Amino acid sequence: MRKQIVAGNWKMNNDLSQTESLINELKSKTKTSNAEVMVAPTFTNLYHAYGVLKNTNIEVIAQNMHFAENGAYTGEISASMLKSIGIETVILGHSERREYFNETDELLAKKVDAALAKGMRVIFCFGEELADRKSGNEEAVVGNQIKNALFHLDTASYQNIVLAYEPVWAIGTGETASPEQAQDMHAFIRKTLADKYGNDVADEVSILYGGSVKPANAEEIFSKPDVDGGLIGGAALKADDFFDIVNAF
Ligand code: PGA
Repeated sequence: MRKQIVAGNWKMNNDLSQTESLINELKSKTKTSNAEVMVAPTFTNLYHAYGVLKNTNIEVIAQNMHFAENGAYTGEISASMLKSIGIETVILGHSERREYFNETDELLAKKVDAALAKGMRVIFCFGEELADRKSGNEEAVVGNQIKNALFHLDTASYQNIVLAYEPVWAIGTGETASPEQAQDMHAFIRKTLADKYGNDVADEVSILYGGSVKPANAEEIFSKPDVDGGLIGGAALKADDFFDIVNAF
């Protein structure tokens, strides 16, 4: 059975006191869910959030990391540093990292390797831009993003890989891929994995959808057979909305 996962990506939102209010609210509302639940605060608030949520069923995860173990990389954070404060999962390849920080598939392959080498779980994000979809190239673009960053991995590595399909045109825009568009792409992604690694691997990898998931559309999107959960941006900043999405399973 594939894991169902709902992860909240807080991006560059919430200072310490705002983080404190949100995590306390999340903690007070936690209940058992069919899905694994995760939240990704900013680096400055990770340790605190981890401490508050560690005995709940909400996992605190990181939004990014560097590929190097340590060294002269001003402003960066390594996998070991994340692990040393209890963080076991990291989001890599978010479209905002690709767009504003020039993260390429090649760089992301190194980050994925570094995270896996430390035993971390990776939520690997990718997705096409609007122009790609308009020109009918969305599958080619997504297929290449996956191949370039992940196809050097061995089969066993996929136990620690979660995929997140996030069409760039649907992130923070209020525009969501239709449940059918999401399902079609998720099925293509699973087939891409199956062609390379076989059905056993493809069937076990959770594929999340991200891009304007809200309480009003979560249930329909999550009902699709190849959609195993969501990566939630804006709607993860309000505890009630986030739990409504978590409970959409
Ligand atoms: P959004 O962001 O839910 O605000 O569209 C999703 C994401 O960037 O992961």
